[in-house]
Amino acid sequence: MKIIIPGDVLWILRKLNEAGHEAYVVGGCVRDSLLGRTPNDWDITTSAEPMEVKALFRRTIDTGLQHGTVTVMNHGTGYEVTTYRVDGDYSDHRRPESVIFSKNLADDLMRRDFTINAMAYHPEQGLVDLYDGMKDMEEHVIRTVGEPDARFDEDALRILRAVRFAAQLGFSIEAATRAAIRNHVDDLAHVSVERIETELTKLICSPHPEEMEELYDLGITARILPEFDRMMETPQNTPYHYTDVGHHTIAVMQHVSPTKVMRYAALLHDVGKPVCRATDAAGVDHFKKHPIVGEPIAREILKRLKLDNKTIENACRLVLWHDFGLKGDLTEAGFRRGMSKMGIEHFPEYLEIRKADTAGQSDYRQAEKQEVLDHVIRMYEKTLEEKAPLVIRDLAAGGQDLKTLGVPAGPVMGQVLQHLLDFVLTEPARNTKEQLLRETENFLKQLARQEEGNSGE
Ligand code: ATP
Ligand code: MG
Repeated sequence: MKIIIPGDVLWILRKLNEAGHEAYVVGGCVRDSLLGRTPNDWDITTSAEPMEVKALFRRTIDTGLQHGTVTVMNHGTGYEVTTYRVDGDYSDHRRPESVIFSKNLADDLMRRDFTINAMAYHPEQGLVDLYDGMKDMEEHVIRTVGEPDARFDEDALRILRAVRFAAQLGFSIEAATRAAIRNHVDDLAHVSVERIETELTKLICSPHPEEMEELYDLGITARILPEFDRMMETPQNTPYHYTDVGHHTIAVMQHVSPTKVMRYAALLHDVGKPVCRATDAAGVDHFKKHPIVGEPIAREILKRLKLDNKTIENACRLVLWHDFGLKGDLTEAGFRRGMSKMGIEHFPEYLEIRKADTAGQSDYRQAEKQEVLDHVIRMYEKTLEEKAPLVIRDLAAGGQDLKTLGVPAGPVMGQVLQHLLDFVLTEPARNTKEQLLRETENFLKQLARQEEGNSGE
């Protein structure tokens, strides 16, 4: 068993060894290397205490001295070097009250969450695997180090980490570990939203977003995302669907690319459906307006989970627009009006979610759905080709031109520009300065007449 360690990391290990300290690469990087995956980062565990580590390297950052972590900078990359440690008592289900530094690697491996994360490696001494991590890795199993109940009791975040690793690696959670998770789901209330979001996002962006179902089965979403449980419990008795909202959602997640925006948008695109469900006399379900109803719900969820604003904006836009053009009766002007509001630069993401949404539905009328989609794509291409004006700054006449016609700055100017935009959205060929100025004159007359009418009442 040989792991290829980057030169910079080898150099850190050697320097620690030469000073008489033990040092190993440990955790995620060992696991990922053995699985043939590229490690995210290389972590080092050592018998040296933080001050000893700092003394050995020229550039270091005090990342978490009280927990034993010093970041060593080498060629612009940071490597976390952490002293062997034993975690003290956990009284709040999330953080040890104190940590005690140790001189034994075994102590340090014992505090780690899962067997596959508890292996250390040294280029000369080889693999240190005290908890059969290698065996669990070969059997594709997530298993806690030590007694599962005690480990989840210490830190409830491990509950989410277990499912996250299952989703990233395509592994399953070992039975006793799974049973212990069920016993401790309520303790998730003690875990900070930031830590929950980190794990949930990794799970959602993994190759197996269908592990959302595992989160539901284990009672985890009930604690952190109860809206998902409502989706799992909302049937869709319509010929267009073969499954409930939750399972359809999972299918859509599987069909979009693994980015935060696309995966969260897919997760929440139908979040309005449980509220909007109406069953007609024939027993068929309808979900009218669910994108409009769902958008603010999605926004609230993403804010609650403390996602960054950019992700929230982009995902919510897709929730709101995901059914645009669905009916197939969209005219070119209607398409341009939609793009004017949505922003045509977001069309590729919209298309991706539309395609995934269709792929996650029943075979009923699939050919028709494809035709509708092709029609929308053709309109998109045409709109781009003819450089159709879609927003106020595309207008051939601007504020200065309108001022010379006597349009005062302020709300009237806004009203005129909006009117002109509407005028060219109907017919892009109207976007010439001459036509816009003429239309402005018409519109001003119309406004004046309205004004007269109002004052005459
Ligand atoms: P990733 O690929 O996401 O970086 P990772 O396994 O490296 O995965 P990290 O969160 O970077 O995960 O943690 C590094 C190591 O620290 C883990 O492999 C594990 O040994 C240990 N660890 C991290 N979080 C916990 C925890 N909550 N409880 C116990 N051990 C943990
Ligand atoms: Mg890591």
